[in-house]
Amino acid sequence: MSPSFPSDTSSIRPGSPAGGVRGRFAPSPTGALHFGSLLAAFGSWLAARSAGGEWWIRIEDVDRGREVPGAALDQLRTLAAFGLEHDGPVAWQSQRGHLYAAALERLLAAGHAFECHCSRADVAATGGVHRSCRPGARRPDPAVRLRVPDGRRAAFEDAVHGHVAQDVGREVGDVVLRRADGWWAYQLAVVVDDADQGMTDIVRGADLLDSTPRQLLLQDALGLPRPRYLHLPLVLGDDGRKLSKSDRSLAVDAGDPLPTLRAAWRALGQDAGMLPAHGPLRATLAAAVAGFDPRRIPRGPVPAIALHNAPAMPHA
Ligand SMILES: [Zn+2]
Repeated sequence: MSPSFPSDTSSIRPGSPAGGVRGRFAPSPTGALHFGSLLAAFGSWLAARSAGGEWWIRIEDVDRGREVPGAALDQLRTLAAFGLEHDGPVAWQSQRGHLYAAALERLLAAGHAFECHCSRADVAATGGVHRSCRPGARRPDPAVRLRVPDGRRAAFEDAVHGHVAQDVGREVGDVVLRRADGWWAYQLAVVVDDADQGMTDIVRGADLLDSTPRQLLLQDALGLPRPRYLHLPLVLGDDGRKLSKSDRSLAVDAGDPLPTLRAAWRALGQDAGMLPAHGPLRATLAAAVAGFDPRRIPRGPVPAIALHNAPAMPHA
């Protein structure tokens, strides 16, 4: 039997923290954690812990085609080595398909979602923005999309970026929920999981800032409550582009976490003097929780080179 969702926003979410804060880190198991993903882990951990809240881990392995075998366990070992202890069981999206299926059923039944028979070329012909199906299109393996009416906008207040608004109908179009190849789309999985797990605060990289408006529309269509959002600055590699897994300039060394944590602290705009220059990991993390000030987080992006050259980043 499939678990059901609350049918209206007045329902109490199962497992919600009683009046408290619950955040999460949700990596995709596509490789080892790099500095950018460690920054998202540390930033979301700090935001939750400094508010006295819980911090959960969710492995976003919904796209099995991109998964690197062993990467998820390696990421969990790295987080543990960095002292970023989590609450609750680790959730694996690959084991939560029944929740996404139940949500999709509800959206289809309510007319918020529809089967799309368009080919990749059909959608590319309209600039990648799906507004209506090509007449007569028919395929044996249709995708399912969220219907986004013309002029449909979404807006929210981000704790770092302020007021963010998007004309989702014009800029994004109808959002894929289940892909033609049968995989669940990230947008559906993340919205369903955040609500099901009672997340109150979504702290993640600014590369997902663009995804948030369509996630808000999906929350509305499912009658789910809206969490608070804080998008962390991106870290740019020495070539000025977003730090990628292939960029070795700031690899995360699980055997020596303190230099990386100090660099992440600086990338979050925090006062380097708040952390002890030496001492055990546990004391550094406790000082970070006590001194964390989310108002100092820059809109970014942060060049990795500045973190390399930071004088208050001694290599222990
Ligand atoms: Zn279509």
